[in-house]
Amino acid sequence: MESNNKPLHDVYVAGPYTDTSSLVRAQRYDQLTYYAGVLMREGLRVASPITHSHPIALAHELPEYTDWWMRQDAPFLLHSKCVHVVNLHGVGSSDGVRHEVKLAKDNGIPVYGVEVSSEHDLTCCACGKRFDYAVSGFQSTHKHTQEYYCPQCWIGKFW
Ligand SMILES: [Zn+2]
Repeated sequence: MESNNKPLHDVYVAGPYTDTSSLVRAQRYDQLTYYAGVLMREGLRVASPITHSHPIALAHELPEYTDWWMRQDAPFLLHSKCVHVVNLHGVGSSDGVRHEVKLAKDNGIPVYGVEVSSEHDLTCCACGKRFDYAVSGFQSTHKHTQEYYCPQCWIGKFW
């Protein structure tokens, strides 16, 4: 048995999920899952709880409240080196994200913001390339900044 505080994942992908519309939930699942793959392609070990839970929630009538899901997701988060909060529409009002950010901060796990664009119009401040997903270097989900890094440069600078 490994020690309890040894990280198993490099990044825990957080983002809004719950919505009254099943279409919105499915879109968020698609976007968060795609981003998890962006990080995996760079060689990182990724925990993506929405990717994990969405098909399970579809297969069963499971509760939708945050506490119930945090019980499932907290172990993934606590065994991750950092949290990436993907800035999808609804992130600001997401109870789940609020709980995840608090849990991370209470446990000294850094939180980074991820900006999303579907039009490749985010420019990496390090290499100048255009990307559809870019990680903010600041350890805050609330501080908006133009300093975005592509996943490769972010790994190079902050890893
Ligand atoms: Zn770059």
